[in-house]
Amino acid sequence: ATPTAIMVGTGQGARAGMLVKNAEALELAERIAVLAVDKTGTLTEGQPALSDVDPVAGWTRARLLGVAAALEQGSAHPIAAAVVAAAKAEGAALPAAEAVRAVGGMGVEGRVGVDGASRAVLLGAPRFLAGRGVALPDGACEALAAGGRTLVAVAVDGVFVGLLGVADRVRVDSAAAVARLQAKGVRVVMLTGDHPATAAAIAHQTGIAEWRAGVLPGDKAAVVDALRSGQVLDAGMGNETGEGAGDGLRSGHAADGAGSGRAPLRVGMAGDGINDAPALAAADVSFAIGVGADVAVEAADITLVRNSLHGVADAIDLSRATLSKIR
Ligand code: ADP
Ligand code: MG
Repeated sequence: ATPTAIMVGTGQGARAGMLVKNAEALELAERIAVLAVDKTGTLTEGQPALSDVDPVAGWTRARLLGVAAALEQGSAHPIAAAVVAAAKAEGAALPAAEAVRAVGGMGVEGRVGVDGASRAVLLGAPRFLAGRGVALPDGACEALAAGGRTLVAVAVDGVFVGLLGVADRVRVDSAAAVARLQAKGVRVVMLTGDHPATAAAIAHQTGIAEWRAGVLPGDKAAVVDALRSGQVLDAGMGNETGEGAGDGLRSGHAADGAGSGRAPLRVGMAGDGINDAPALAAADVSFAIGVGADVAVEAADITLVRNSLHGVADAIDLSRATLSKIR
């Protein structure tokens, strides 16, 4: 490859909102066969707002919100900020919390003063509570999650006391960008730590046919490696309780035969979060959403200044144009 053509391409990229850190990425972009994308903050805006408060009988809205917010004050997750902001806006009393600990990809645990007694409180993904032996009412989660909302389940002393719903808007151009990538023959797959029903709703809204839900932080990189060796994610794989889904992968023979060969597939990854950094590092070509976490931007080959997945399609176009000058 001639360095001059790459330099010109890199300059064109910068003017079009793609900051290319690694020149090799510009050469490889046109060969991306599979693009893995994070959900929260990448397909969506990543600015969740509280949408639902659903306490069990005997619990009030204000009390559920207050207990949840008391614990969320100890978490840096965007969901936590949404819960705390809503509790304050509604004037809910925030009881004292102690021994608060955020559990990555899961939620928060700690002790909160309820009715003058210090009680053990757990909140977060339904699979987090289920894993700690908390029984969740059948079907309670699916209805809320079906709208694409993220669920925050709350338990006090091991007993489920209610559910919060958090809504995060899909970026206006995510569906169009996904369609544009698919038209180029790129298989777009979504990876998220969220609930399967939430993942399914966002996948449908953005035209993505393949996704994996309930992916723990750190496991996204392993999925990128599996995609490289041609595996296909079953739509909707990932299981809130971790049962029955296996590893959510099967040997792939994609419709176009791309997964059936022996040669590894070129895998791209687009993400915004701290949790995405290992997967960005594992991918052949990686893209960070410009407003994303510093570690994601540092780990990625190309930063998308416009915070849009159109930037991935633009990079593929630029890669083709640049390489055609070299050839
Ligand atoms: P993602 O951004 O892909 O959804 P995360 O790893 O940040 O992944 O979180 C995975 C899931 O864990 C979230 O969807 C949410 O259900 C739960 N979770 C994590 N932290 C919190 C928190 N502070 N409050 C509520 N839920 C949380
Ligand atoms: Mg994210």
